Amino acid sequence: MNKDIYPWQSSAWSRLIERRASLPHALLIQGRPGLGKTHLARVFARSLLCEQPIAGGGACGACAACGWFDQGNHPDYRQVQPEALDPGDGEEPKRGEGAAPSRQIRIDQVRELQPFLRVGTHRGGLRIALIRPAEAMNAATANALLKSLEEPPDRTLLLLVSSDPQRLLPTVRSRCQGVTVFPANAETAAAWLRAQGVADAEGVASFAGNAPLAALEQAGFAEARAALAELLSDPDLDPVRGAELCLGPPLPEVLSWIQKWTYDLLRLRSGAAPRYHPGAGAGLARVAGRLDPLGLARYAARVAEARALALHPLNPKLVLEDLLIRYRELAMGQGTGGSNG
Ligand SMILES: [Zn+2]
Repeated sequence: MNKDIYPWQSSAWSRLIERRASLPHALLIQGRPGLGKTHLARVFARSLLCEQPIAGGGACGACAACGWFDQGNHPDYRQVQPEALDPGDGEEPKRGEGAAPSRQIRIDQVRELQPFLRVGTHRGGLRIALIRPAEAMNAATANALLKSLEEPPDRTLLLLVSSDPQRLLPTVRSRCQGVTVFPANAETAAAWLRAQGVADAEGVASFAGNAPLAALEQAGFAEARAALAELLSDPDLDPVRGAELCLGPPLPEVLSWIQKWTYDLLRLRSGAAPRYHPGAGAGLARVAGRLDPLGLARYAARVAEARALALHPLNPKLVLEDLLIRYRELAMGQGTGGSNG
């Protein structure tokens, strides 16, 4: 067991270590957001560059190479990511105001890799470029990278990280060996969250689909999330007050909560137990009993649409009010009908 990785990553780690002996030119580390894939990729890169790896394949943490890596200046390592992305392990874009930095990996960033990939390595070992998230490359950028994937320079590893590998060019995907990071099991997720000081560790973990890092981020919003669940349990809710209640956390976050609530309503309608709100069965049932199933499906589509648009600048309060007004109509059995306008 490598102590540098998260407890739910041990099987992915073993699969990476198995590849050490004959490394492919490109690896794709994939899995849902909130599982620490970039962290795992960096731990793997550090261990490959380490000049005295310990038994089990981990980095020693004491050699010159480990020192450079930890200070962010190993000459044979590059990390490529969108300007907008937090340089740490966060998988969500940085939230900021003003002129938005790019959410894409620019083609220049990939072109700037080329000289690095061509010259000899400084330490006579491997050279590694980590690209995250790989789906932030548009087609032109991915094609620029493809040249390196097709004719890989010697002693080179491209480490791609993706939460959404279906969005990669098939030509890129097919040239990478995939390693999947799976969600934690419920006990591991809850234990890890408890160790981070999260109070309702079980509840938060299951709400985040046992993606512990996503759960940790959401734990900070537990109060707002509980308030929203209470609001949505009341068919005759007040949309304006409700929208105000939810203005603290980022809009995409709140929309994902409404989406999960809607998903649980759909599950209840089909006789299944709620997945994200195991403790809110009564509130869900109060609303679910009155719903027109077709209207609910339409509503779910509408929430998904709002969520897809949520990264663009818009008025969060209006978006929330609109969704809550429609929710009340649906829950009060007034159905918004087929109109989609
Ligand atoms: Zn070392």
